[in-house]
Amino acid sequence: MSKTFFIDTTKCTACRGCQVACKEWHDLPATETKQRGSHQNPPDLNAVTYKVVRFREHKDGDRVVWNFFAEQCRHCLEPPCKDAADGYLPGAVLKDEKTGAVLFTELTKKLPKDAFEAMASDCPYNIPRRDEKTGAITKCDMCIDRVNNGLLPICVKTCPTGAMNFGEREEMLKLADSRLAELKKQYPDAQLVDETDVRVVYLITEDPDYYHDFVVAQGPVGITRQMALAKLTSPLRSSIRRLIG
Ligand code: SF4
Ligand code: SF4
Repeated sequence: MSKTFFIDTTKCTACRGCQVACKEWHDLPATETKQRGSHQNPPDLNAVTYKVVRFREHKDGDRVVWNFFAEQCRHCLEPPCKDAADGYLPGAVLKDEKTGAVLFTELTKKLPKDAFEAMASDCPYNIPRRDEKTGAITKCDMCIDRVNNGLLPICVKTCPTGAMNFGEREEMLKLADSRLAELKKQYPDAQLVDETDVRVVYLITEDPDYYHDFVVAQGPVGITRQMALAKLTSPLRSSIRRLIG
C-alpha cells in the first residue's frame, strides 16, 4: 500500500483549511505573525508549521494572476534527508515500508547541528526545520497515525475543493494524468512536478517560478531513477513509473 498525494493547484482557493487542520491534528501552537502585505501567512514553514499555503502573484498582460501552492514535505521515494541523517544517527529518519512516508523521529533531537544542516541542504525542496527549544527536526509526517488507521491525512480530509487528494500511488498517478490531460487543453504549460521521484505530486499550469522557489527539486532527488526514465519513451515511462512506487 504505497501512498501518494495528488495536489491540484488549479482547485486551490487558499482557504488555508489544510494548514490550520495540520496544526490542530498535530497539536502545534500558532505562529505569531503580522500583516506583511501578502495573502501568505506565516511567511515560511517553521518547526511548528508543517504546511504553508504559499502565495505569489504576477501580471499576464492586463491580468493579475494569483497562484497558490499548499507546500509540505514531498515524501521523496529516495529521500536525501534520510541519507544525510543516516550518516550521523541511523534511525533518526525512517521510511515507513507500508506507506512510503518519510518520518523524522524523536532521535532527531540527538542529531548535532552539522547533521541538521546536511539534512536541510540536501533536501531539494527546503523542508526540514529545527525546533530551537527541543532540538527536534520537524516536517509533515503524512498523518501516519491516521493513515495507519484507514483515515485520510487531515489536510486532505479538510480540503473543501478537491485540491488535495490521497490514496494508492497507482490510483493517484492515474488521477493526476487524467487531470493533466484535461488542463493541457486550456493551459499548454500544465505539468506534474517531479512525479517519478516524490509522493506529493503537484499539478501546476505555469512556469514553477510563478508559484514558489522550491516547487521543482533544487538538487538531486532519485537521480538514478530519473536518468534511467529520461531515456525511455513516454508510454513506457508511464507504465514503469507505476511499478517503481
Ligand atoms: S522533501 Fe525533503 S524532507 Fe521531505 S522526504 Fe524529501 S528530502 Fe526529506
Ligand atoms: S484546504 Fe484545499 S483549497 Fe484550502 S488552501 Fe488547502 S489545498 Fe487549498
